[in-house]
Amino acid sequence: MVKRILKKMTMKPRIAEYENFLQRIVGAGYTLSPLQEWPGEDYHYFLRHDVDKDPEAALILGGIAAKYGQASFYFRWETMVPDVMRCLYQMGHEVSLHYETLANVFRENGVKRVKDITLKMVKEAEAKLADEIALFEILFWPVETIIAHGQIRNRKVGIPNSVLNAGIADYSHQPHNTDTAELSENRYILIHPCHWIVTSRRERLIIDWKDKF
Ligand SMILES: [Zn+2]
Repeated sequence: MVKRILKKMTMKPRIAEYENFLQRIVGAGYTLSPLQEWPGEDYHYFLRHDVDKDPEAALILGGIAAKYGQASFYFRWETMVPDVMRCLYQMGHEVSLHYETLANVFRENGVKRVKDITLKMVKEAEAKLADEIALFEILFWPVETIIAHGQIRNRKVGIPNSVLNAGIADYSHQPHNTDTAELSENRYILIHPCHWIVTSRRERLIIDWKDKF
């Protein structure tokens, strides 16, 4: 635990590595595209950014990505900073919801294992997710795709948030790649901005702490 925190506190920014990856994608003739255009044509590369902890880190990566094309950024409610999101959106990126609705319902109902789950809970979570999407659209812009966040609670219970049906395109579990060392056959890449740059160690540690409950 202490080792993990120390590693996070001393992480070197990987901005040059990120930009180098984008240069290789575009240099190889691919178009950098947001997931709302999935599956696109052959020569598209999809970059999904899950903003789990550090919205400003997402903004910095988004600024770099905008030089090469468009990508997707998914924010949890607790990492939503409207100014940051609007900036990314104005750069042409897709900015949408990183939902964790089912895990929250599990937490409210004290669900610890699969047998604690009831159909009523799942229906309640689906209704809540529909409300979240509606609220996001009131606050921001239309939602075209959403991505599920994985809470510790999901892992413990063994059920991901993406089992909910929101009636909206959800590519959470479409096979994707996290390795950016080389261009791969799988052109769907998942990036966690907080693994690339840390702008606020304090904020990040607070969210890390809250995520444990
Ligand atoms: Zn996430």
